[in-house]
Amino acid sequence: MQRPSIRPVPVVALALALLAGFAFGTAATAQRKRPFLAGICYTVHDAQQQQEKHVVEWVTKNRIGLVAIDFFGIAHSYDRIDFRKITRLVKRLKKAGVTVLADYRTSTSKPGVAHRGEAPDLCLSDETVRANLIGWGIHLLDKCPDFDILTIYNPLPTFERNKECRPCKKAGSRKLLRRFFEEFATAMRRHHPRVKLGAVFPADPSLYRALAKHLDVFCPFCSLIAPEGETACGPGVMKRVARDMRALRKVGPVIPLVKLYWKQATRNTTDDIVHAMNEAKRERLDGFFLWYRSLLTGDVARNVRFPLPSYDLEKIETCYRALAPRKR
Ligand SMILES: [Zn+2]
Repeated sequence: MQRPSIRPVPVVALALALLAGFAFGTAATAQRKRPFLAGICYTVHDAQQQQEKHVVEWVTKNRIGLVAIDFFGIAHSYDRIDFRKITRLVKRLKKAGVTVLADYRTSTSKPGVAHRGEAPDLCLSDETVRANLIGWGIHLLDKCPDFDILTIYNPLPTFERNKECRPCKKAGSRKLLRRFFEEFATAMRRHHPRVKLGAVFPADPSLYRALAKHLDVFCPFCSLIAPEGETACGPGVMKRVARDMRALRKVGPVIPLVKLYWKQATRNTTDDIVHAMNEAKRERLDGFFLWYRSLLTGDVARNVRFPLPSYDLEKIETCYRALAPRKR
Protein backbone atom coordinates (compact mmCIF):
# COMPACT_ATOMS: atom_id res chain seq x y z
CA MET A 1 0.00 0.00 0.00
CA GLN A 2 1.30 3.41 -0.98
CA ARG A 3 2.08 5.50 2.06
CA PRO A 4 1.41 9.23 2.07
CA SER A 5 4.23 11.13 0.50
CA ILE A 6 4.94 14.82 0.12
CA ARG A 7 5.45 14.10 -3.58
CA PRO A 8 2.40 13.77 -5.83
CA VAL A 9 0.83 10.34 -5.47
CA PRO A 10 0.71 8.39 -8.76
CA VAL A 11 -2.84 8.10 -10.10
CA VAL A 12 -2.78 4.29 -10.15
CA ALA A 13 -1.61 4.05 -6.54
CA LEU A 14 -4.26 6.55 -5.52
CA ALA A 15 -7.00 4.61 -7.30
CA LEU A 16 -5.84 1.38 -5.64
CA ALA A 17 -5.73 3.03 -2.24
CA LEU A 18 -9.27 4.36 -2.69
CA LEU A 19 -10.50 0.98 -3.92
CA ALA A 20 -8.96 -0.65 -0.87
CA GLY A 21 -11.05 1.69 1.30
CA PHE A 22 -8.03 3.36 2.86
CA ALA A 23 -9.59 4.92 5.96
CA PHE A 24 -7.72 8.22 5.96
CA GLY A 25 -7.05 8.70 2.28
CA THR A 26 -3.68 9.39 0.77
CA ALA A 27 -4.11 12.66 -1.05
CA ALA A 28 -5.92 15.96 -1.11
CA THR A 29 -8.86 14.48 -2.99
CA ALA A 30 -9.54 12.06 -0.16
CA GLN A 31 -9.31 14.71 2.54
CA ARG A 32 -12.99 15.67 2.57
CA LYS A 33 -13.91 12.01 3.14
CA ARG A 34 -12.09 11.87 6.45
CA PRO A 35 -14.31 11.73 9.47
CA PHE A 36 -13.83 14.42 12.12
CA LEU A 37 -12.37 12.55 15.06
CA ALA A 38 -13.21 14.24 18.35
CA GLY A 39 -11.06 12.28 20.74
CA ILE A 40 -10.22 11.66 24.35
CA CYS A 41 -6.97 10.32 25.78
CA TYR A 42 -6.81 7.84 28.66
CA THR A 43 -3.62 6.99 30.49
CA VAL A 44 -3.00 3.27 30.20
CA HIS A 45 -3.54 3.00 33.98
CA ASP A 46 -6.86 4.84 33.83
CA ALA A 47 -7.96 2.74 30.87
CA GLN A 48 -7.26 -0.56 32.59
CA GLN A 49 -8.72 0.49 35.94
CA GLN A 50 -12.10 1.32 34.46
CA GLN A 51 -14.61 -1.30 33.46
CA GLU A 52 -14.50 -1.80 29.70
CA LYS A 53 -18.26 -1.59 29.56
CA HIS A 54 -18.26 1.83 31.24
CA VAL A 55 -15.60 3.22 28.94
CA VAL A 56 -17.49 2.08 25.85
CA GLU A 57 -20.78 3.40 27.26
CA TRP A 58 -19.34 6.83 28.05
CA VAL A 59 -17.60 7.10 24.67
CA THR A 60 -20.71 5.97 22.78
CA LYS A 61 -23.05 8.20 24.76
CA ASN A 62 -20.95 11.23 23.91
CA ARG A 63 -20.35 10.14 20.30
CA ILE A 64 -16.57 10.30 20.70
CA GLY A 65 -14.83 9.11 17.52
CA LEU A 66 -11.27 8.59 18.74
CA VAL A 67 -9.84 7.07 21.90
CA ALA A 68 -6.13 7.47 22.53
CA ILE A 69 -4.35 5.36 25.13
CA ASP A 70 -1.08 6.70 26.43
CA PHE A 71 1.48 4.08 27.44
CA PHE A 72 4.01 6.75 28.60
CA GLY A 73 7.59 5.51 28.72
CA ILE A 74 6.37 1.99 28.19
CA ALA A 75 9.47 0.36 29.74
CA HIS A 76 8.80 2.23 32.97
CA SER A 77 5.24 0.98 33.45
CA TYR A 78 5.69 -2.29 31.55
CA ASP A 79 5.14 -4.71 34.44
CA ARG A 80 2.00 -2.82 35.53
CA ILE A 81 0.27 -2.89 32.15
CA ASP A 82 -2.54 -5.41 31.68
CA PHE A 83 -2.19 -5.90 27.93
CA ARG A 84 -5.03 -8.43 27.80
CA LYS A 85 -7.43 -5.99 29.37
CA ILE A 86 -6.32 -3.20 27.03
CA THR A 87 -6.76 -5.54 24.05
CA ARG A 88 -10.32 -6.35 25.14
CA LEU A 89 -11.08 -2.64 25.53
CA VAL A 90 -9.63 -1.81 22.11
CA LYS A 91 -11.67 -4.55 20.47
CA ARG A 92 -14.89 -3.33 22.12
CA LEU A 93 -14.21 0.27 21.16
CA LYS A 94 -13.57 -0.69 17.56
CA LYS A 95 -16.76 -2.70 17.49
CA ALA A 96 -18.53 0.51 18.55
CA GLY A 97 -17.01 2.30 15.53
CA VAL A 98 -14.30 4.17 17.46
CA THR A 99 -10.80 4.76 16.06
CA VAL A 100 -8.19 3.71 18.63
CA LEU A 101 -4.72 5.23 18.95
CA ALA A 102 -1.77 4.05 21.05
CA ASP A 103 0.87 6.55 22.11
CA TYR A 104 4.23 5.70 23.64
CA ARG A 105 7.29 7.56 24.72
CA THR A 106 10.91 6.89 24.17
CA SER A 107 12.32 4.01 26.15
CA THR A 108 15.83 2.86 25.50
CA SER A 109 15.84 -0.45 27.35
CA LYS A 110 15.37 -3.71 25.49
CA PRO A 111 11.77 -4.27 24.36
CA GLY A 112 9.87 -6.45 26.82
CA VAL A 113 12.19 -5.61 29.74
CA ALA A 114 10.81 -3.29 32.43
CA HIS A 115 13.05 -0.39 33.31
CA ARG A 116 12.49 1.72 36.42
CA GLY A 117 14.25 4.95 37.26
CA GLU A 118 15.64 7.70 35.08
CA ALA A 119 15.61 6.96 31.38
CA PRO A 120 19.10 7.27 29.97
CA ASP A 121 19.73 9.98 27.41
CA LEU A 122 18.47 9.21 23.99
CA CYS A 123 21.18 9.02 21.39
CA LEU A 124 19.70 8.65 17.94
CA SER A 125 23.17 8.08 16.51
CA ASP A 126 23.24 4.83 18.40
CA GLU A 127 21.85 2.00 16.32
CA THR A 128 20.87 -0.06 19.37
CA VAL A 129 18.97 2.86 20.88
CA ARG A 130 16.99 3.34 17.65
CA ALA A 131 16.33 -0.39 17.37
CA ASN A 132 15.06 -0.55 20.98
CA LEU A 133 12.81 2.47 20.48
CA ILE A 134 11.27 0.88 17.41
CA GLY A 135 11.23 -2.51 19.11
CA TRP A 136 8.99 -1.15 21.89
CA GLY A 137 6.47 0.01 19.29
CA ILE A 138 6.47 -3.43 17.66
CA HIS A 139 6.21 -5.07 21.07
CA LEU A 140 3.25 -2.90 22.03
CA LEU A 141 1.43 -3.86 18.82
CA ASP A 142 2.38 -7.53 19.18
CA LYS A 143 0.60 -7.40 22.56
CA CYS A 144 -2.34 -5.26 21.31
CA PRO A 145 -2.48 -5.63 17.53
CA ASP A 146 -5.90 -4.01 17.08
CA PHE A 147 -4.88 -0.37 17.45
CA ASP A 148 -5.56 1.73 14.33
CA ILE A 149 -2.82 4.30 14.90
CA LEU A 150 0.52 4.25 16.72
CA THR A 151 2.15 7.55 17.67
CA ILE A 152 5.47 8.33 19.26
CA TYR A 153 5.36 11.12 21.78
CA ASN A 154 7.77 13.98 21.17
CA PRO A 155 11.31 12.58 21.41
CA LEU A 156 12.85 16.04 20.92
CA PRO A 157 13.49 17.06 24.57
CA THR A 158 15.26 13.79 25.38
CA PHE A 159 17.27 14.22 22.25
CA GLU A 160 18.01 17.87 23.01
CA ARG A 161 19.52 16.89 26.37
CA ASN A 162 22.00 14.90 24.41
CA LYS A 163 23.03 17.82 22.22
CA GLU A 164 26.66 17.75 23.17
CA CYS A 165 27.08 14.17 21.99
CA ARG A 166 29.64 14.28 19.19
CA PRO A 167 28.09 11.86 16.67
CA CYS A 168 24.63 13.46 17.10
CA LYS A 169 26.05 16.94 16.75
CA LYS A 170 27.88 15.93 13.61
CA ALA A 171 24.85 14.36 11.97
CA GLY A 172 22.37 17.07 12.97
CA SER A 173 19.08 16.43 14.74
CA ARG A 174 16.84 16.78 11.67
CA LYS A 175 18.84 14.21 9.74
CA LEU A 176 18.85 11.80 12.67
CA LEU A 177 15.12 12.16 13.20
CA ARG A 178 14.53 11.47 9.53
CA ARG A 179 16.67 8.37 9.68
CA PHE A 180 14.93 7.20 12.85
CA PHE A 181 11.43 7.64 11.39
CA GLU A 182 12.45 5.98 8.15
CA GLU A 183 13.62 2.92 10.10
CA PHE A 184 10.49 3.10 12.27
CA ALA A 185 8.18 3.13 9.24
CA THR A 186 10.08 0.34 7.49
CA ALA A 187 9.94 -1.92 10.54
CA MET A 188 6.25 -1.21 11.22
CA ARG A 189 5.32 -1.82 7.61
CA ARG A 190 6.93 -5.23 7.94
CA HIS A 191 5.48 -6.19 11.33
CA HIS A 192 2.16 -4.31 11.51
CA PRO A 193 1.38 -3.02 8.01
CA ARG A 194 -2.25 -2.19 8.84
CA VAL A 195 -1.43 0.31 11.60
CA LYS A 196 -1.12 4.00 10.70
CA LEU A 197 1.90 5.85 12.09
CA GLY A 198 2.06 9.27 13.63
CA ALA A 199 4.11 11.48 15.89
CA VAL A 200 3.41 14.13 18.49
CA PHE A 201 5.61 17.18 17.95
CA PRO A 202 5.37 20.94 18.30
CA ALA A 203 3.32 22.39 15.43
CA ASP A 204 6.43 22.94 13.31
CA PRO A 205 5.56 22.48 9.63
CA SER A 206 9.16 22.08 8.51
CA LEU A 207 9.72 19.28 11.02
CA TYR A 208 6.58 17.44 9.91
CA ARG A 209 7.41 18.03 6.27
CA ALA A 210 10.82 16.43 6.78
CA LEU A 211 9.12 13.34 8.20
CA ALA A 212 5.93 13.33 6.10
CA LYS A 213 7.08 10.46 3.93
CA HIS A 214 7.08 8.18 6.97
CA LEU A 215 4.00 9.43 8.81
CA ASP A 216 0.29 8.91 8.13
CA VAL A 217 -1.02 11.16 10.91
CA PHE A 218 0.32 14.46 12.26
CA CYS A 219 -0.37 15.20 15.91
CA PRO A 220 0.85 18.73 16.67
CA PHE A 221 0.81 19.91 20.27
CA CYS A 222 -1.93 22.29 21.09
CA SER A 223 -1.22 23.27 24.63
CA LEU A 224 -3.84 25.02 26.72
CA ILE A 225 -1.43 26.08 29.44
CA ALA A 226 -2.51 29.29 31.04
CA PRO A 227 0.14 30.62 33.39
CA GLU A 228 -0.55 33.71 35.49
CA GLY A 229 -4.23 33.79 34.70
CA GLU A 230 -3.67 34.22 31.00
CA THR A 231 -4.33 31.62 28.31
CA ALA A 232 -0.84 31.08 26.97
CA CYS A 233 -1.85 29.82 23.57
CA GLY A 234 -4.78 32.19 23.36
CA PRO A 235 -8.12 31.67 21.70
CA GLY A 236 -6.47 31.46 18.27
CA VAL A 237 -4.48 28.32 19.09
CA MET A 238 -6.29 26.03 16.64
CA LYS A 239 -6.25 28.74 13.98
CA ARG A 240 -2.47 28.85 14.20
CA VAL A 241 -2.19 25.06 14.13
CA ALA A 242 -4.47 24.94 11.08
CA ARG A 243 -2.46 27.64 9.31
CA ASP A 244 0.86 25.91 10.04
CA MET A 245 -0.45 22.51 9.01
CA ARG A 246 -2.39 23.57 5.90
CA ALA A 247 0.01 21.99 3.40
CA LEU A 248 0.37 18.84 5.48
CA ARG A 249 -3.38 18.29 5.71
CA LYS A 250 -3.20 17.33 2.06
CA VAL A 251 -0.70 14.60 2.93
CA GLY A 252 -2.31 13.11 6.02
CA PRO A 253 -4.77 13.90 8.78
CA VAL A 254 -3.87 16.57 11.33
CA ILE A 255 -5.19 15.56 14.74
CA PRO A 256 -3.79 17.88 17.42
CA LEU A 257 -3.14 16.72 20.91
CA VAL A 258 -4.93 19.22 23.13
CA LYS A 259 -2.92 19.26 26.30
CA LEU A 260 -4.81 20.51 29.32
CA TYR A 261 -1.86 21.03 31.62
CA TRP A 262 1.66 20.07 32.35
CA LYS A 263 2.65 22.36 35.12
CA GLN A 264 1.49 23.86 38.34
CA ALA A 265 0.64 27.25 36.83
CA THR A 266 -2.18 25.82 34.74
CA ARG A 267 -5.26 27.99 34.81
CA ASN A 268 -7.30 26.77 31.85
CA THR A 269 -11.05 26.59 32.21
CA THR A 270 -13.87 24.47 30.85
CA ASP A 271 -14.62 27.26 28.38
CA ASP A 272 -11.03 27.22 27.07
CA ILE A 273 -11.38 23.49 26.41
CA VAL A 274 -14.80 23.78 24.78
CA HIS A 275 -13.52 26.65 22.65
CA ALA A 276 -10.49 24.63 21.46
CA MET A 277 -12.73 21.64 20.66
CA ASN A 278 -15.11 23.74 18.58
CA GLU A 279 -12.29 25.58 16.88
CA ALA A 280 -10.69 22.32 15.70
CA LYS A 281 -13.84 21.63 13.72
CA ARG A 282 -14.27 25.20 12.55
CA GLU A 283 -10.68 25.21 11.26
CA ARG A 284 -11.45 21.98 9.40
CA LEU A 285 -8.78 19.98 11.15
CA ASP A 286 -9.27 16.22 11.12
CA GLY A 287 -10.01 16.06 14.82
CA PHE A 288 -8.23 16.43 18.17
CA PHE A 289 -7.71 14.47 21.34
CA LEU A 290 -8.00 15.86 24.84
CA TRP A 291 -5.20 14.91 27.17
CA TYR A 292 -6.32 13.30 29.72
CA ARG A 293 -9.78 12.17 30.68
CA SER A 294 -8.63 11.69 34.30
CA LEU A 295 -7.81 15.42 34.38
CA LEU A 296 -11.34 16.30 33.33
CA THR A 297 -12.82 14.18 36.08
CA GLY A 298 -10.25 15.08 38.74
CA ASP A 299 -9.25 11.42 39.13
CA VAL A 300 -5.63 12.30 38.50
CA ALA A 301 -5.52 14.53 41.58
CA ARG A 302 -4.28 11.78 43.89
CA ASN A 303 -1.09 11.58 41.83
CA VAL A 304 -0.13 15.24 41.92
CA ARG A 305 0.88 17.43 44.82
CA PHE A 306 -0.67 20.69 43.69
CA PRO A 307 -4.26 21.80 43.16
CA LEU A 308 -5.63 21.21 39.68
CA PRO A 309 -8.37 23.16 37.99
CA SER A 310 -11.76 21.52 38.17
CA TYR A 311 -13.77 21.18 34.98
CA ASP A 312 -17.44 20.95 34.14
CA LEU A 313 -17.53 17.48 32.61
CA GLU A 314 -21.16 17.80 31.58
CA LYS A 315 -20.43 20.88 29.48
CA ILE A 316 -17.53 19.08 27.78
CA GLU A 317 -19.73 16.03 27.11
CA THR A 318 -22.36 18.27 25.52
CA CYS A 319 -19.68 19.76 23.28
CA TYR A 320 -18.55 16.28 22.18
CA ARG A 321 -22.09 15.32 21.21
CA ALA A 322 -22.56 18.54 19.25
CA LEU A 323 -19.32 17.94 17.33
CA ALA A 324 -20.22 14.42 16.23
CA PRO A 325 -21.34 13.87 12.66
CA ARG A 326 -25.12 13.52 12.30
CA LYS A 327 -24.89 9.89 11.14
CA ARG A 328 -22.72 7.46 13.08
ZN1 LIG B 1 24.10 11.14 20.51
